Amino acid sequence: MSAEVDKLWDLQQVVSQLADREGQLEVKPESFAVVDREYEAASEDLQKLEQSLEAIAKERRRVDGELHDQQELLKKYQGQLMLVKNQQQYAAAWREIDVARKHVKELEDSVLKCMTEAEGVQKQLDERRGEFDDLKSRYDSAHTEWQASLSELRAEIEQLRAKQAQVEAALPENIKREFSQIAKQRQGVAVARVAGDTCTGCRTRIRPALAQRLKRGEPVNCEGCSRILYLERPEL
Ligand SMILES: [Zn+2]
Repeated sequence: MSAEVDKLWDLQQVVSQLADREGQLEVKPESFAVVDREYEAASEDLQKLEQSLEAIAKERRRVDGELHDQQELLKKYQGQLMLVKNQQQYAAAWREIDVARKHVKELEDSVLKCMTEAEGVQKQLDERRGEFDDLKSRYDSAHTEWQASLSELRAEIEQLRAKQAQVEAALPENIKREFSQIAKQRQGVAVARVAGDTCTGCRTRIRPALAQRLKRGEPVNCEGCSRILYLERPEL
């Protein structure tokens, strides 16, 4: 019985170390973080420019469509001009032609505006893409360098995983299950050491009756946080 709680304590040590080392794997060193931030910002800029180019192209398609319709309308009014029978109809037809022409002119201006805007954005985009290639290779080499620096940490993680498997193999299935359930609910800590008469996991006091059971090496769960309690006992 006493061996089991000791094994669980060992398992907790390994699991906590693993979590710590795995966390370290994700921590970007400043040498990489600098390039990473630059890379993120540049990607975002590129994306914005591409989006604005798309928006201009969409507006251009809309204007082109409307321009086509107005030109057709203008042709129709000009055709009608041939068919007028009196001065009044003639004047009315001219008014329609005038309005349509004005409209066509406005739309042609809009097309020009779209073209100028698209050119400007395209130019910026080309420049940024040129710079981005350089940034991308700096990013890649900083990333490779960072990953290469992690080989020791990775080896340590491999060792810890092997140790975890070894400790787990010596534990009964139901105990392992209890451990992982509590760990999941309690930020990865399933086993809490007892210091004085208090659970170090949640600061709940251990009642004397439970303390007695702990001293005998019996499995006891904290009444505050449900963690498995571990009491360092003198070597027998
Ligand atoms: Zn507790």
